[in-house]
Amino acid sequence: MIMSNKDDASIKRMAELLRQGATMLADGCPQCASPLFKVKDDIYCAKCDRRIVYAKSDQELEVHDVKSLLPELRETLINKLKDLNEIVDNEKDTEALTKLANLMVLLLQALHRLESMGS
Ligand SMILES: [Zn+2]
Repeated sequence: MIMSNKDDASIKRMAELLRQGATMLADGCPQCASPLFKVKDDIYCAKCDRRIVYAKSDQELEVHDVKSLLPELRETLINKLKDLNEIVDNEKDTEALTKLANLMVLLLQALHRLESMGS
């Protein structure tokens, strides 16, 4: 295996970082995918020779967006359950009641999930 000078330099930097007590992280550099090193509170990529600042991932943002929707969703679900309660109250047909009961369970499960997400 022939290593370019750049790789050689990055390996030296990695060794140097480890010598300074850095820990190798499971995460790869977003730029070059080589392993990242944690030095105190800073995260470095030895290959890019720069500090990595973690931006909020898309997933985190998504969770945040969903969380801001939670009170509204909760309200909607509760209103649906109230409507459903009235319908069930007036329904005499067993088959229809079975369907309504299933729907009610689904709504309650959704509500339960929402509440566990919000906490
Ligand atoms: Zn890198």
